[in-house]
Amino acid sequence: MKESHPRPRSFSLHEKACEHLVGGVNSPVRAFKSVHGSPVYFAQAKGACVTDEDGNEYVDYIQSWGPMIHGHAPENVLDAIRETMEKGTSFGAPHVGEIEMALRIKARFPNIDKVRFVSSGTEAVMSAVRLARGVTGRDGILKFEGCYHGHVDSLLAKAGSGIATLGIAGSPGIPQGTVGDTVILQLNDEEMLEHAFSMHGKTLACVIIEPLPANNGLLPQRPEFLQRIRDLCDEHQVLLIFDEVITGFRFQQGGVSSVLDIQPDITTLGKAIGGGLPVGAYGARDEIMSQLAPEGPVYQAGTLSGNPIAMAAGSAAIDLLDNSCYDKLEALGIHLEDSINQILSKHDFPFNLVRVGSMFWMSPPSDDLIRSAADIPSDSGSRYADLHYGLLDRGHMLAPSAYEIGFLSTAHTRENIDDLCSALDSTLIEMEAKT
Ligand SMILES: *Cc1c(COP(=O)(O)O)cnc(C)c1O
Repeated sequence: MKESHPRPRSFSLHEKACEHLVGGVNSPVRAFKSVHGSPVYFAQAKGACVTDEDGNEYVDYIQSWGPMIHGHAPENVLDAIRETMEKGTSFGAPHVGEIEMALRIKARFPNIDKVRFVSSGTEAVMSAVRLARGVTGRDGILKFEGCYHGHVDSLLAKAGSGIATLGIAGSPGIPQGTVGDTVILQLNDEEMLEHAFSMHGKTLACVIIEPLPANNGLLPQRPEFLQRIRDLCDEHQVLLIFDEVITGFRFQQGGVSSVLDIQPDITTLGKAIGGGLPVGAYGARDEIMSQLAPEGPVYQAGTLSGNPIAMAAGSAAIDLLDNSCYDKLEALGIHLEDSINQILSKHDFPFNLVRVGSMFWMSPPSDDLIRSAADIPSDSGSRYADLHYGLLDRGHMLAPSAYEIGFLSTAHTRENIDDLCSALDSTLIEMEAKT
């Protein structure tokens, strides 16, 4: 096996890692389990490309699962990191970098008066939910199946049987009591939404949603659906949390909220705001944020929160994001969509391309745009592994899971996309020959 493996060094490193790290990894999706293989060990990454431990080069469409909007290791972010680290790597005290970074977030999210920095998206969401509960004095949470909000206990909940039911634990180790206040609904269903509000509206602290769900395929929502959520939240004094950890800073003026002009009460951010370092953030209007310690009673803290190097990297990454970046990402996105659709139309093969801005998903075929997890055909992952390895062996790194999306960065080029499309063509020809 080892000799015949296309990436022998990655393969043996993974075997070794498995002796010391659970499944060889520190985050499950990295293990390549859903494509029935073993992970590629990255040695280095620059721009749109990564090099693995066997010396293979790939054009990377994972981009660290979203953070690397400028591609890997952009020079101005590296400069900011070098310059800052010379002055100390962690203070545990306030510093100018936190103000600088907060200003950059506020400039793009008009309904954020105050920001709190944390170290991951999970932490941002967990804290935002606590804040919502503290502000409203209620415990209920409403979330949607197919949205991912990090590994927060109360949000790792599955729908029980029946309609608009309370959640059941989505993982061993989560007490029923922790998810018992979580209501789970399908996306894109106003009728269920109204029903859930009529049953639970008075006890809900918050509704949390990815306004563009991007963690279980890419499931664009109708603006009317999001607006209905906003209206129902207002009617029932429920806070609306937009989890923009993946979408924040990916669109023209900030996040999906700015594109749709539907404003949440609390916004959670992460991924792209950190320039590749661990940063999460949440923010809201003053009257909500003032309930947070030290101004208010809702407790939340962090030893490494607002870390100087992370703040500097984040600010440097945001400073690079002028309008020309978004124009470039959209132009690349259009080129990707047109080119891939052209290849797909040549083949009788079960994929559709769904794209919004710099995010894309090789979706199972469907006559209508898939907007809810319930509408994803259940066997849709079965042929994805062949597609994934066909592209990987040709030098194109897509996510090792049928339900994870791809990312374009400003470092990608039209030539990268043209190469991807010819690799896709050859891969589909190869797959068709096998069936
Ligand atoms: C990635 C993600 C999270 C979790 O962020 P981590 O930094 O991985 O903890 C939460 N919400 C959304 C929408 C995400 O995409």
